[in-house]
Amino acid sequence: MTETAGPQSVTVIGGGLAGLSAACALADTGHKVRLLERRPYVGGRASSYEHPGTGEVIDNCQHVLIGRCTNLIDLYRRLGALDSIRWYDHFTFIEPGGRRTLLQPSFLPAPLHTSLAFLDAPAFSISDKFAIARGMSAFLTRIPDDTDENFAHWLARHGQTKRAIDHFWHPVLVSALNEDLDRISIKYAGKVFRESFLLSPDAGRMGIPSVPLSDLYGRAIDYLHARGSEVHLRTSVEAIEPVDMAEPEIGWIIRSGDRIFPSDAVVLALSFEALAGLLPSLPRNAGSKQLAADLAQFEHSPITGIHLWFDREITDLEHAVLLDATIQWLFNKSKLQPAHRDQQENYIELVVSASKSLVPMQRQEIIDLAMRELAQFFPSVNSANLVKAAVVKEVRATYSVRPRLDRIRPGAESPWPGIYLAGDWTATGWPSTMESGVRSGYLAAEALSRDAGAVEKFLVPDLPPAGLMRLFS
Ligand SMILES: Cc1cc2nc3c(=O)[nH]c(=O)nc-3n(C[C@H](O)[C@H](O)[C@H](O)COP(=O)(O)OP(=O)(O)OC[C@H]3O[C@@H](n4cnc5c(N)ncnc54)[C@H](O)[C@@H]3O)c2cc1C
Repeated sequence: MTETAGPQSVTVIGGGLAGLSAACALADTGHKVRLLERRPYVGGRASSYEHPGTGEVIDNCQHVLIGRCTNLIDLYRRLGALDSIRWYDHFTFIEPGGRRTLLQPSFLPAPLHTSLAFLDAPAFSISDKFAIARGMSAFLTRIPDDTDENFAHWLARHGQTKRAIDHFWHPVLVSALNEDLDRISIKYAGKVFRESFLLSPDAGRMGIPSVPLSDLYGRAIDYLHARGSEVHLRTSVEAIEPVDMAEPEIGWIIRSGDRIFPSDAVVLALSFEALAGLLPSLPRNAGSKQLAADLAQFEHSPITGIHLWFDREITDLEHAVLLDATIQWLFNKSKLQPAHRDQQENYIELVVSASKSLVPMQRQEIIDLAMRELAQFFPSVNSANLVKAAVVKEVRATYSVRPRLDRIRPGAESPWPGIYLAGDWTATGWPSTMESGVRSGYLAAEALSRDAGAVEKFLVPDLPPAGLMRLFS
């Protein structure tokens, strides 16, 4: 079966955040867009589904954003989904035993807006607070360059105390970048701390979707249909070949089973490992050999989500950072998602980032560990009954932003004419996040329209610094 394509037809392969943002931007500017996605739903690594063991619709893992994610927010605006994000300007850190530290902005201008909360924080001693202030001051004027140094080494060099690391640097960074501190580039660590805590209160606030992820990103399908685009789910691309091997600029043929999709241009919006799997079908040239070598250097890091349903409420908090434990974040889904509010059970999701120690463990072992630890923070767990549970191990959750990774992240231009690269791993200046996915999609759409002779801009500006940070930027 052959599907026809008109002039300026663009096929976007991959329906994650990168593919959806590229497809929506290109559809908006009059291209004839076709989106091909292997799974029965869009959203890629940010999606929800009916969990077979519990019968509940769950997110593959809780996803959060910060105010600084301007392009992701722009995608929500396009999709009419801004009202599905709830914003929080406070973070509650809890120690075993229940002692709480509240980090939230005050009336003081940036970068001092969270300093009053730090001064008041019981989770840190005076010397921890001095150490944190000294460390943060290194990011006042700029984000460091991407050198060979890792962030654990940087913390030692900047005289950080053990508790400052355990109660601040580690929990913030491991959840933001999903890696151990000795495998994180100082550039991306500096970016997280400068943008979340110094730049402005708006940049650092946290957004949490109030609907399942597939409801959020599924809106893109209606958006594309309304602009005359095609969306083909359950369509796994197996090969991409030039229409004419001698003149690849004429166009491309995309193969999926017995279906063939001809296309003038292609956006490959895939994870790095999925792209590596398609490379053998594409023409070999010097650029493609280099790309294959670069892709082989990316490494994954896992995230584990532990979903628990209790017969009664175990906490009135909506979310919290859990210190000195394996479990790192608590999200009270019964409060965060209206769909769960009317359920009798209290639905809690616990998140463990960089969860290498959990990957080899059995489901029940992980649930037992989570229940034991959770009771140390919330004694009410001891009198509650666990009604059901699910453990979701995402072994290929994100790539590690190791020192010097930027050297091998390619831009949107590919080694082949008319083919563009997108994906959170490409050169966006952001770590493995939804924002990076959307930026990469917009950048690929910009490169494509540039080659087609138009000067379309899709990337939106960053948030400006506020208060005294204007003087430092
Ligand atoms: C457990 C977990 C928690 C996370 N938490 C956060 C968070 O809190 N905040 C945040 O910002 N980010 C988070 N992330 C990261 C974020 O989800 C990703 O960075 C982002 O979704 C990547 O989008 P992408 O489009 O680049 O890639 P993907 O989402 O991987 O999209 C690629 C798409 O291509 C499809 N595909 C693959 N091969 C083919 C083929 N041959 N043919 C057709 N289609 C194909 C895939 O099915 C997929 O839909 C998390 C990720 C995980 C897994």
